Amino acid sequence: DLLVVGSANADLVIGVERRPGAGETVLGTDLALHPGGKGANQAVAAARLGARTALLARVGDDAHGTLLLDSQRAAGVDTAGVLVGGAPTGVALITVDPSGDNSIVVSPGANGRLTPDDVRAAAPLLGSARVVSAQLEIPLETVEEVVRTLPAGSRFVLNPSPPRPLPPAVLAACDPLIVNEHEARVLLGADAGDTPGRWAEALLALGPRSVVVTLGGEGALVADSAGAVLVPAVRVDAVDTTGAGDSFTAALAWRLGAGERLADAAAYAARVGAVAVTREGAQASFPTAEEVAAL
Ligand code: ADP
Repeated sequence: DLLVVGSANADLVIGVERRPGAGETVLGTDLALHPGGKGANQAVAAARLGARTALLARVGDDAHGTLLLDSQRAAGVDTAGVLVGGAPTGVALITVDPSGDNSIVVSPGANGRLTPDDVRAAAPLLGSARVVSAQLEIPLETVEEVVRTLPAGSRFVLNPSPPRPLPPAVLAACDPLIVNEHEARVLLGADAGDTPGRWAEALLALGPRSVVVTLGGEGALVADSAGAVLVPAVRVDAVDTTGAGDSFTAALAWRLGAGERLADAAAYAARVGAVAVTREGAQASFPTAEEVAAL
């Protein structure tokens, strides 16, 4: 069983002709309201594939929190671990211009109040997880507590997004650490090097047992102590890459929990990501296992 520990946000999206500057007001399209946040996205992606999935997260006691709980339940996620209250639900205010460039302001809200104590109180949920998947849109101390609480024999998957330096104990627990190019560069700093192979090698030197570098339409590089292999992307007509990384990570975590080897799990995850980019939106774009098989 898969446990996702992470964020849940309401995405408030408005299309504009031009993104406003300081002191400026612009008129935009009707508001679109979508459930999002990396934790919520991963849980929905995994459950839609058929994975038995639970989410440990925090939302506000408000309408956005209800939206998020409803979308999790509709996908079949176990929401017993979704805590309610303490702050408003996290929100992302997104403006998008006609070229597709956006400006985003995030209020972490309740995500910032998911504490190490909440992790300790969720010990039974953690105890029944085969794979635990986390990201960094919640406090780092909370992720550190997840690592301390991992049951024996379970596997920890981390997508360090938004990226920031990680403590050695968190790095050492990752199997794999999953990064895109931007995240790799931030984790590695100035001497990152210029090829995915270099990033993977340098990231492995930081301590994780394995590394996956996702490369958008180029696929993903999978690396561990035995070496590196490129998992090619599936060729599709991409219309919206929002949520591709979240669906890839969720699918990978699920297949690892089912006992697949990392490269095989990544190949399946690449098929899931490929379907997701052929459709608009994040959670709305995530496929079922039947849709992945039909690709
Ligand atoms: P992120 O969204 O975190 O930046 P990527 O863009 O690297 O992550 O996408 C994650 C995975 O989704 C890729 O490794 C790939 O397998 C798949 N994917 C992303 N973009 C495309 C695309 N244009 N065509 C096919 N597959 C894609």
